[in-house]
Amino acid sequence: MILCTRHKDLARIMAPGGRRCAFVPTMGALHEGHASLIRKAVAVARDRNLDDGCVVSIFVNPTQFNEQADFTRYPKTIEADLSLCEAAGASVVYAPGVEDVYPTDEGVEVPPLPAVATRPSLEDALRPGHFAGVCQVVKRLFDLVRPLAAVFGEKDWQQLQVIRAMTRDLRYPIDIIAGETIREQGGLAMSSRNVFLSPEDRQRALAISQALCESWSAKTPADAERLMRSELEKRDLAVEYAVVRHAESLEPAASGPHRALIAARMGSVRLIDNSEWRPA
Ligand code: AMP
Repeated sequence: MILCTRHKDLARIMAPGGRRCAFVPTMGALHEGHASLIRKAVAVARDRNLDDGCVVSIFVNPTQFNEQADFTRYPKTIEADLSLCEAAGASVVYAPGVEDVYPTDEGVEVPPLPAVATRPSLEDALRPGHFAGVCQVVKRLFDLVRPLAAVFGEKDWQQLQVIRAMTRDLRYPIDIIAGETIREQGGLAMSSRNVFLSPEDRQRALAISQALCESWSAKTPADAERLMRSELEKRDLAVEYAVVRHAESLEPAASGPHRALIAARMGSVRLIDNSEWRPA
């Protein structure tokens, strides 16, 4: 496995013309959820005979944080991250500094935000500017890495839809592949931010995946939303949203496919999760 910290080095070691790798962008503090995406990208690269294999980026992108404190305290575990990437079969890790991604002498474009990014009451309403930062960094990384395919987690369901839409809008020839959410025992979705949870909060946070399970007994989206909210409030989680939307457009919709989506806060830690939803 090769480690690059500058995009010039990345360009030197990868196939000229690009499109010979499968890519997994991350912010580091890697866990089994990331490892499963990397293994998936390795399999894609093998099946499609991509000589450059799987490329993983590790970059805590400052432009997608809407709270400075969240950015500064974001966990950093680079040595363990590199071991995890190697064990999962990555060929290249690109772990740049801010200056390499956002050179001061070169403006880095923020692509137009797809409509799915700004649906009322979801991420953009609660984290203004977040998806503008995500689109900016993902487009930049796509331009530097030039993958044929890129794997994103279903854990960040709205982000997955935003990236799909952005890639389509930009007409980039990149296949966006979804990886399923990996959970801890008990159902809590793995997240780099789970390290900030106390043992008691970790127990209370189980209410999120339990609320998603509860929603499966509802006959309508409105009933599902009520059930989820009540399960979360029973355990004293501050609900930011608990909704059922169309799985792709993320608009309120009478007919499916549907997705149930939750964001809730426990003190300073914000957790998100989602699942498929069908009327019982
Ligand atoms: P992050 O490092 O949190 O920005 O996430 C990098 C990628 O890993 C994103 O595509 C996430 O959706 C994905 N990811 C995060 N947590 C999980 C998980 N528990 N299971 C699967 N994928 C995940």
